[in-house]
Amino acid sequence: MTAPTSETDAVHGVPWHNLSPGDVRGRLDAGGPLDADAVRQRLQHYGPNQLPEAARRGPMARLGRQLKNFLIYVLLSAALITALLGHWMDTVVILAVVVVQTLVGFLQEGKAEQALAAIRHMLAPQAVVLRSDGRHTIAAAELVPGDTLLLEPGDRAPADVRLERVHGLQVDEAILTGESMAVDKAVASEPEGAALGDQRSMVFAGTMVTTGTAQGVVVRTGQATEIGRISGLLRYTDTLKTPLLEQIDRFARYLSILIIVAAVMIFLAGTWFSGMATDELFMAVVGLTVAAIPEGLPAILTITLAIGVRRMATRKAVVRRMPVIETLGAVSVICSDKTGTLTRNEMTVTALVAGGERFEVTGTGYSPDGAVSGPTGQKLSPAVGELALAGTLCNDAHLKLQQDPVRVEGDPMEGALKVLALKVDNELAGVDGQWRRVDEVPFDADYRFMATLHHDHHGHAMVYLKGAPEQVLAMCSDAMTTDGSLQPLDAGPWQKKIDDMAAEGLRVLAFARLPVSSGTSSLAIEDVRQGLQFLGVAGFMDPPRPEAVKAIADCHDAGIRVKMITGDHARTAGAIASKLGLRETGRVLTGADLDQVDDRELVNLAATVDVFARTSPEHKLRLVKALQAGHGVVAMTGDGVNDAPALKRADVGIAMGLKGSEAAREAASMVLLDDNFASIAAAVREGRTVYDNLRKGLAFLLPINGGESVSLVVALLLGLTLPITALQILWVNMVSSVVLAMTLAFEPTEGDVMKRPPRARAESLLQGFVVWRVLVVSLLFLAGIFAAWGWGMGRTGELEYARTMAVNTLVAMEVFYLFAVRYLDTPSITLRGVVGTPIVIGALVAVVILQSLFTWVPLFNEAFGSAPMDLAGLAFSATAGVAVLILLELETRVRSSFSSRRVDPVR
Ligand code: ATP
Repeated sequence: MTAPTSETDAVHGVPWHNLSPGDVRGRLDAGGPLDADAVRQRLQHYGPNQLPEAARRGPMARLGRQLKNFLIYVLLSAALITALLGHWMDTVVILAVVVVQTLVGFLQEGKAEQALAAIRHMLAPQAVVLRSDGRHTIAAAELVPGDTLLLEPGDRAPADVRLERVHGLQVDEAILTGESMAVDKAVASEPEGAALGDQRSMVFAGTMVTTGTAQGVVVRTGQATEIGRISGLLRYTDTLKTPLLEQIDRFARYLSILIIVAAVMIFLAGTWFSGMATDELFMAVVGLTVAAIPEGLPAILTITLAIGVRRMATRKAVVRRMPVIETLGAVSVICSDKTGTLTRNEMTVTALVAGGERFEVTGTGYSPDGAVSGPTGQKLSPAVGELALAGTLCNDAHLKLQQDPVRVEGDPMEGALKVLALKVDNELAGVDGQWRRVDEVPFDADYRFMATLHHDHHGHAMVYLKGAPEQVLAMCSDAMTTDGSLQPLDAGPWQKKIDDMAAEGLRVLAFARLPVSSGTSSLAIEDVRQGLQFLGVAGFMDPPRPEAVKAIADCHDAGIRVKMITGDHARTAGAIASKLGLRETGRVLTGADLDQVDDRELVNLAATVDVFARTSPEHKLRLVKALQAGHGVVAMTGDGVNDAPALKRADVGIAMGLKGSEAAREAASMVLLDDNFASIAAAVREGRTVYDNLRKGLAFLLPINGGESVSLVVALLLGLTLPITALQILWVNMVSSVVLAMTLAFEPTEGDVMKRPPRARAESLLQGFVVWRVLVVSLLFLAGIFAAWGWGMGRTGELEYARTMAVNTLVAMEVFYLFAVRYLDTPSITLRGVVGTPIVIGALVAVVILQSLFTWVPLFNEAFGSAPMDLAGLAFSATAGVAVLILLELETRVRSSFSSRRVDPVR
């Protein structure tokens, strides 16, 4: 097949909804599924199926935004006034600082944007297509006009599609038409002039499948789609903003205003009452303003978040909404699906019961090597053959037998049934061709079965059905015996066999059939409600993920309760839960049990029970609400379209990246790329680390501002000479402190992070301990600054020398304080603490070089009013730094002997 000719090229004006599916394929020169060559040519011709992204904010806009900063205004005003006063050197230094500050902000914001862009890339949508060599899951960008697309519930249509086959398809088109009710879709052509909302034979890119399944031909991609023509652009709104950051931003803004007002008052009071010259007083007030405003704080906190987002992504947890990074650290309950999240979702049928006899199945993985053996050896009864036939026909999966190891495209459980069929009888490989599928009732987690209608070449018609055993038993009136004959169904013994299998931890699925008249060409749920013939059950082994066992134990240590909420059988769920090491596995509640209790009772039950089985998505929503009512901060996983409400309601909604629907991803605040429970635990760990690092950033930067500004206020009030000048404060804040503080964003996780209880949801970043630390350290810095200044003056009587002493002592104290702040709650004088990380060491070297320039290079001496220091001076500064570290170490040890943040693990 080739790319379409220019005659069939005009995808724009063609009324696809009005053409028959056959004509559509003709126009697109796509008689059947496309081959690789045709796809390549079309991709070249039409371009990738993407909408251009809304232009990222360009570098100039980003630069411009840096200038819209309160502190920059203060600095620019100061530069202007110093220039008017003729203090040229001050003007130049202040302007240089403006440039440095702007550049640092610019680079930091760029880094944050990069982190977000990387995530967007990871969540690129996918599509399921039929190509000439079978079914594939591909990146939606690779779709081309003429492709055969498959749609299922929860999919967001990746392109405009003319439908060819539909089964109960309903689509939410609100994004295009504003109509919030889902609309029914059908194959029949619509009149040429039909409005967009009436084109029932089409599914448009960007709209969401709410129920049903469909197959169709892609007719328009990328910007040619309806949505492409309307909006033309994809917009991402997420920015690195979280409630806590906003709280800090607000705090910084109010603080700045307060400081400006105070500065103006001090200036006015000073002009009237003190004898200081106006320009000297002005510079002192500028110094005070710069000293007090925590200018570096928002940037450091933003970068901490960006790094957290990146770290989580490397642990396969992709953050979709930024506030979740903070919430993760406070999670106290994790509710997880079972299949694929706690278990591997690599299914193998290991046992089956047909005609009342149990058979064991050997073999591992999806390799068809293995055998089925029963009570009478290898000889298989007709009942087994019929069960295997049902399993392979009522099935949407495809085995990739050429691959080694063999892989499954589609549902792993269905893949295992294809393998079972090959183990029972190799001939079953080609049975799909003999029994053509005519219609189907797709699987739905609410009714837990799937049925397909087949016709053979001889005019026979048969419905095959598979589903949850109790559901299937309730629909059957007869059961197949060993020899293939039928007798009335006695559900009791079957129920016992099913319970036994489930108690072994096997996932149990039942099979049935219903002969129908040869003319039957459509199938509806009502057709299979009763009168079916029961064929038997199969037991699937789906082993727990070993890493999930460890992650659950870690969560328990961290005071987090783990609950399993599954659609599976109660006994299977209980057996798997105890293998996984969940707590209360003795008591399993089913969806039916939950329906019996009211919301108030559920609050208690939800708190004490850990395993919930045979639940439907509505139960998940009720459970989230009940756990939240019991003051839990709840993380909940989900994959289906119906899970969206629970995912939205949960404090942390987690969607599955592999088997999850687009609807679930969009409702979730986080997506797991590998569907693995261990990744949730890793994300919680990272969430706690980010929160720790935010606290450290605050606890580091605020005392520097505090120490400096209190020094200046004390000097002004007492009429003393300023121990540090305004320009020197600018230097410390904008250069040395920023370099040091930046390292805190990269701090690795503390060893005990998963040994502490979850943080209280309402805990503020500026809570008791941080405030206490800020006060204590501010005072230490104040003392250090004055001591160094006094010592310098006493020794040499030179103001420049004394001020250089004060600056270098302040920076030395910052450096040692950095080491103390890296371990807020545990002792920092340990080998691990002293050695630091490569980033800390790098920052240290950078600061030593910067301070050396400041101290010994004549140009800097002239610009900043500094003077070279001698060895004694250096020794003084270093001693002050060490003293700060030792004092804080003592404080930490005293504090930790009084209070213990460790908890008993969850009982
Ligand atoms: P979890 O919610 O932990 O992922 P689950 O995969 O068992 O568990 P569902 O997908 O809701 O949950 O399935 C519920 C039940 O429906 C299964 O236990 C099984 O009995 C039945 N079932 C699942 N998939 C199919 C299918 N493709 N065809 C027929 N029945 C199915």
